[in-house]
Amino acid sequence: MPQIIPTFLHLNLADQNFEVKSYEEFVPKVGGLGWALSIYEKFIDDDPIVFAIGPLSGIFPGASKTIAVFKSPQTGGLTTSLAGGHLARFLRFAGYQGVLITGKAPTPVLVSVDEETADFGDATPLLSLEVPKIFEQIFSSEGIPGRRSVVVTGPAAELGFTYAPLYLDEFFSFPRGGLGRAFAQKNLKGFVVSGTKGEFVENERRYNEVFLSLIKSLKGYRELSQLGTLRNLTVEKKISGVPFENLRESNFESDELAAPQFLRGIFGKRVSCGGCPVGCIHLLRFGDKYTFYDYEGVVSLGPLLGLTKQEDVGQLLARAWGLGLDPTSAGAVLSYLTEKEKLAFGNLETYRDLLTALVTSNEEWALQLRSGLPDEEQALTVGGMEFLPYFNGYASILSQILRLGATTEENCGFILDLDLLQKEISAKAVVNQLVLAQEKKTLSELLIGCGYLANVYEDPGVAFGALGATGSSISHEQLLAAAKSIFRHKLMLQKRLGFEPLDVKIPEKFFRIPTPAGFLQKDKLREMIKIYVHDVYEQAN
Ligand code: SF4
Repeated sequence: MPQIIPTFLHLNLADQNFEVKSYEEFVPKVGGLGWALSIYEKFIDDDPIVFAIGPLSGIFPGASKTIAVFKSPQTGGLTTSLAGGHLARFLRFAGYQGVLITGKAPTPVLVSVDEETADFGDATPLLSLEVPKIFEQIFSSEGIPGRRSVVVTGPAAELGFTYAPLYLDEFFSFPRGGLGRAFAQKNLKGFVVSGTKGEFVENERRYNEVFLSLIKSLKGYRELSQLGTLRNLTVEKKISGVPFENLRESNFESDELAAPQFLRGIFGKRVSCGGCPVGCIHLLRFGDKYTFYDYEGVVSLGPLLGLTKQEDVGQLLARAWGLGLDPTSAGAVLSYLTEKEKLAFGNLETYRDLLTALVTSNEEWALQLRSGLPDEEQALTVGGMEFLPYFNGYASILSQILRLGATTEENCGFILDLDLLQKEISAKAVVNQLVLAQEKKTLSELLIGCGYLANVYEDPGVAFGALGATGSSISHEQLLAAAKSIFRHKLMLQKRLGFEPLDVKIPEKFFRIPTPAGFLQKDKLREMIKIYVHDVYEQAN
């Protein structure tokens, strides 16, 4: 297993052809985010969508993520999104470190990829189908069963919803930022990757040692495995950081939505990303149908709407999934509508009807909401993206303003706020700690480990040991320097695509409702943004 030279499959949708190319010059970028940003920049004028895996992907437990880098149809800015499923390992077993997509197909296509070829097929029969049905059809007709991964858009993406995600292997997704819509804009319904290659391990003994030690470390994630990310709700309720009824309050009474209650209620089963022993993906069950649930989906389609019953939240999650709507974004849109139109919070019927109307109605209000939330006082939107439902303090809001993480997996701010509770800390110190946390996360995003396994894949010692077992000759110092410089490369590209942190409008409501750290001061938050822009963002060249 020698040093990896990143090999990308380039799908040119306009001409419906493909090219396989290796980029030796990107070896020092380590992998994952490093490779994806470099390819993105190289093809920036072609409005590319880039997927990348890393040097550990598919061969070590928990190195199960694929990172996507693209221009968000929602914000117009550079966006990253992570997903698990089986994509990373089947890309690797097909011989690729990533996929580059450019151009626009003349008609909707589904591309079927393996180690030899890419076949551009007609996707018209899949249009308008609900998400579970699309997977059912593709599973019965495309790729090699058991050796394939499938990514597709849902109906909302076709209808122009800028926050429509991209779905992966049925129960996984690339959330936030509208990657599904970015596909639809290119007339790309999805792609299927089949991979059957193996790899030769040079130092088998060393590889096995590292593999087993990682398995041992991952056994420490018992709570994540048993409760999924919904475990965060118990902590958030304890500190009063859960937005309720469009952030009228930051807590609510019932415990019915807590993860242990779900296990006793509508929980169905757990599934895992390929090669990960943790299995933190939790599915709820209605009859013989399963739907994915996690912290942000449950809170956004639950308490944010005043709903606190599992059954109600489960129904909305299943509906949003079927329609192809990101649950976090959909929840913020529904809570905005409830407050603006003075509807009653907590009414399941209303929300079921509104979700359907959002997708089917041709009335002006529904068509406008396909582009996300407007700039109005009832809208919980930060820099063009719907609020990630952690109302913990400065860092959780600041990280969203700065576009440093739109999901529980990518956002370092809400955890930092937990560390900072009861501490008096200057604006500069908050910024410094947030940037440090983000640089640590970048290390994992190079490799590309799962963001929920931070103690493992953000640890430079683990990273260095695992890379060494793959035959990499990168030094400890080079690795840390790469993480720092690639984080700044991302900021530089954000800048190039026009992102101005100082221009981000912050909802006034954030200053009227107390966080666990007390009321946020507008001046202090603005000062943090200025410090970040001056000390970090403007230095990223
Ligand atoms: S911890 Fe969960 S999300 Fe992360 S790789 Fe494992 S199963 Fe997937």
